Amino acid sequence: MEKNSKIKNWIDRDLKYIWHPFTQMKDCLALPPIFLERAKGIKLYDAKGRFYYDTISSWWSNVHGHNHPKIKKAITGQLSRLEHVLFAGFTHKSAILTAEKLIAITPKHLTKIFFSDNGSTAVEVALKMSFQYWKNTGKSAKHKFISLDAGYHGDTVGAMSVSGLNLFNRVFAPLFFKTFKVPTPYCYRCPMKKQRATCKLECTKPLEDILSNKKDEISAMIIEPLVLAAGGMIIYPPEYLKRVDELTKKYNVHLILDEVATGFGRTGKMFASEYTNIKADFMCLSKGITSGYLPLGATLTTDKIYKAFYADYAQKKTFYHGHTYTANPLSCQAALASLEIFEEEQTLKKIKKLIPVFHKEMEKFRNLKIVGDVRYIGLIGVVELVKDRKSKAPFDEKERIGLKIYQEGLKRNLILRPLGNIIYFYLPLCIKKGEVIDILGRAYKIIQKTTI
Ligand SMILES: *Cc1c(COP(=O)(O)O)cnc(C)c1O
Repeated sequence: MEKNSKIKNWIDRDLKYIWHPFTQMKDCLALPPIFLERAKGIKLYDAKGRFYYDTISSWWSNVHGHNHPKIKKAITGQLSRLEHVLFAGFTHKSAILTAEKLIAITPKHLTKIFFSDNGSTAVEVALKMSFQYWKNTGKSAKHKFISLDAGYHGDTVGAMSVSGLNLFNRVFAPLFFKTFKVPTPYCYRCPMKKQRATCKLECTKPLEDILSNKKDEISAMIIEPLVLAAGGMIIYPPEYLKRVDELTKKYNVHLILDEVATGFGRTGKMFASEYTNIKADFMCLSKGITSGYLPLGATLTTDKIYKAFYADYAQKKTFYHGHTYTANPLSCQAALASLEIFEEEQTLKKIKKLIPVFHKEMEKFRNLKIVGDVRYIGLIGVVELVKDRKSKAPFDEKERIGLKIYQEGLKRNLILRPLGNIIYFYLPLCIKKGEVIDILGRAYKIIQKTTI
């Protein structure tokens, strides 16, 4: 444990040089970053020995808990053999085994894998492959993309272009390539003013209109299956995804599933898209792929796409894209170990029992005065705060109610990092029943006491 003055010194040194992500650095004067020392299981410990429940899985990446002996061993074992090598003209066991394992657990029709090193790059790869597929097959007019107006696919310019416009990316809008945006199936705030119990997925009508009018210009539709994570933890019905799959097939447009946030058990199934039987052309993976230990991205696709690039060199059909840390051996070992833990610890079977307990606890939030909506799937649970339950009027951004709750959370050992007026849990899959009840109990008390 370090003394207060020593910790302050570390933080001063941080703030002297470091610019943190998604952070107004001026806010750090009042709310400096927490100086962490170690982590174990679902708890993070700061230098004073105080713990925080990692309720959001360290940005939706941690799966089996921190400091897992098997993942550590896999990484250190690899470290003594080969830490990194270029992935053009060379290969290694770690990448081959990881590829085989990922191909085995994803839908059967996905037979090819392209590695990169984060979620945004996994998305860029899918967009570029789709785009070039049409070029390689003589349909170069098909070069536009469709996406949901509250989707999030990363922070690089291509990924931002296919994301919804929001507070964070609006300033960069002049840089974006033009896309078609369709209304998000946000059932609590239905864009068509319907009720889910009786609706006929009227929200897919604008999508069908664009597809039928512009199919010859459209390369692909990109979508986060079932949960729009950064866009406000919006959970939508599988029937919507099914319809998207049918429509994109009907109009000969690729479907890109961005499972970067939803993959690896978050929704109760290995992949969210398993809630419905669909055959997408691309699947993007990252975040939980290594259980949050090291960066890795992967874009999976079909034989059909792959074959459109497979040709004599002179035909200029090569996919010229790559990243320095493509299929890093250490990252691949972490991924491999994480996937083995899914089997050894029967992770998905274990959480199956836990999920109903979690959902029952989530329901309790519904009676709180500032709670407009409660939604959940798997180990993701969401509380949407509103000023007025009847009109669903949101709190003003300036009121920063999420920040208030975040600060109260820290006092009670929770990381309730908000998305605007959305408070959510994105629990590590290794969590135990007692911890779920403790975390939700603490959060309940905080939201109950919060007033503006
Ligand atoms: C986080 C996220 C990304 C971007 O991943 P990074 O590794 O942060 O670049 C892309 N898509 C979805 C759905 C995400 O949640």
